[in-house]
Amino acid sequence: MMELEEHIKSLAKRAKSRVGNVIVAYEVKKWPEGRLEQLLKMRVLRSLPDADEIRCPGCTKRHMIVPIRTILPNGDSYSEHLCSKEGLIPIPEFLFKRWEIVTEEESPKDEANKKSVKPLNVRVGSIVIKHPKANSEEIAKLVGSTDGSVRTTLAWTMRKQLRQRYDTKKGWKDSEGSMDAYSEEIQAEHWDIYNMFQDYKSGKNPDYPSIVRIAEKLKVKEARAKEFLKQAKSMLEFEADKID
Ligand SMILES: [Zn+2]
Repeated sequence: MMELEEHIKSLAKRAKSRVGNVIVAYEVKKWPEGRLEQLLKMRVLRSLPDADEIRCPGCTKRHMIVPIRTILPNGDSYSEHLCSKEGLIPIPEFLFKRWEIVTEEESPKDEANKKSVKPLNVRVGSIVIKHPKANSEEIAKLVGSTDGSVRTTLAWTMRKQLRQRYDTKKGWKDSEGSMDAYSEEIQAEHWDIYNMFQDYKSGKNPDYPSIVRIAEKLKVKEARAKEFLKQAKSMLEFEADKID
């Protein structure tokens, strides 16, 4: 197997190729021990939310399957798949893991984003879900703004909805009310997507927010846009039924 330096170079090259920038668990299994952790620490890779669909580990056909995943009340989960060749097989949780190669163009921008102050709406959104009892005056203090400004944000007008969809222990619920596997903070990208759908619905923008258009707007790759859309739907609940 490749040395670290060579490995990083090949990942950068691959991210630009048609193979794409998503790394799946099968690939990582072939890497030397500790390599994944090393690459994550160096920010060559970053974690993506788990995949729904994986290659069948039970047989040699390598077909794509959607295993049945059971999440226990304590947060642990296990998965199984009924393979036509091998019968019922357990699916190791590791196989759902995915990572993304961080490309050179986007890493300086990411750094800048982390340092810059988040928009007021995003800050209000985070407080609304984490401190469900806070009023606009208290929120204003926490986000370093005024009562009046807090009340003009979309997050404030949607506070009831946000609180219903967020559990301080478990994270966000999906549209069916079951708990999703992530507990990420509400981000500017989620609101951008929400606004795109509102503009479409109100007729302000007649173009449907397709994945391509969302990716363009957020300046991210389509795979990332899909993840953001999925999260935004869980957090902010809106119709996006034309998108698969
Ligand atoms: Zn199979």
